[in-house]
Amino acid sequence: MEPFTKQTKEYLTINHWVSDFPQLAAGFSTKNGGFSDGDFTGLNMGFHVSDDQQAVLKNREHLAGKLDFSLSDWIGADQTHEVNVAKVTSKDGGLGALQYESSFPQTDGFYTNNQGILLTLCYADCVPLYFLHRQTKTIGLAHAGWKGTVHGIAEKMIAAFNSEGIAASEVEAVIGPSICKHCYVVDDRVVKAADRWKNDDVPAPYKEISEGQYQLDLKQLNRQIMIQSGIAEKNLVISNYCTSCNADLFYSHRRDGGKTGRMISFMGWKEE
Ligand SMILES: [Zn+2]
Repeated sequence: MEPFTKQTKEYLTINHWVSDFPQLAAGFSTKNGGFSDGDFTGLNMGFHVSDDQQAVLKNREHLAGKLDFSLSDWIGADQTHEVNVAKVTSKDGGLGALQYESSFPQTDGFYTNNQGILLTLCYADCVPLYFLHRQTKTIGLAHAGWKGTVHGIAEKMIAAFNSEGIAASEVEAVIGPSICKHCYVVDDRVVKAADRWKNDDVPAPYKEISEGQYQLDLKQLNRQIMIQSGIAEKNLVISNYCTSCNADLFYSHRRDGGKTGRMISFMGWKEE
C-alpha cells in the first residue's frame, strides 16, 4: 500500500508513522501552492537552483505554516551526493533554513532524537530515505541519488543508528517519492558502480534496454541495501510515486531538463 498520503496540495505525509505519533512531522513536499515563477513555478524549496531567493523564502515560510513547524527550527544541508550523515540537535535548528550559506556543510543525511528540529533535504528525482526507531524516538533522513545509493548512504545511516545502541532489526524505514526505473536510464558507468551490491539471491536492480543503456531502479537498490544492512522486510515500505511520471505533483530534474525546482523531505518531532 502507498505509504504517502496527500494532506494539502503542498505536502504528503507518511501515513502509518504520523497516525501513530501525532507529534511527528514526516513527509515530502509537492511543487504546488508556492510563489516561484518560470522554470521553478510553484513551491520550490531549493535556494541553490538560481530561483529568486525571496520567492524560495516565501515558499518555505508558507510550508512551515502548513506543517506547523517554525522555519527557525528547520535544518538544511549543502548536499554533495556523498555519504556523510550528521547527528544534529535542536541547537542546530535554523541552519540552512533561511539561506543556503548557513547550510550544514557536505551532508546528505541527518539524524536526531531531539524535539523541536525539522530535518530537511532537497530533491528532484533522487531518493528520499526515512528512518525511525520508535523506542528512542530517533529519526533519520537521507538523500540518495545514484552516487549516494551505490556508496551506501542507507548503510551509513543504519550504522549511525547502531552507534547509538539501536539494532537495525528495530529500525523502520520508508523509501519516498523518486524517479522510477522507466524514467531513469543510465549508462555502464552507473551500472558498474551499482554492481558493488550484486547479490545472486535478488534480481538485479537494472535491465539493459539497448546497447550500454539501462533502466535502473534506485528504490529497489536502496531496499536491497537496507535489507542487507539488517532492516527487516516487514519494517520497510516503498512509495510508488515517481517524481518524473507525476508532472502535476513534483519537479523532476530528468523530465524538466535540469532546470527545475526542488521538493523537500522532512522529519521532526514537534515540541510537546
Ligand atoms: Zn517514472
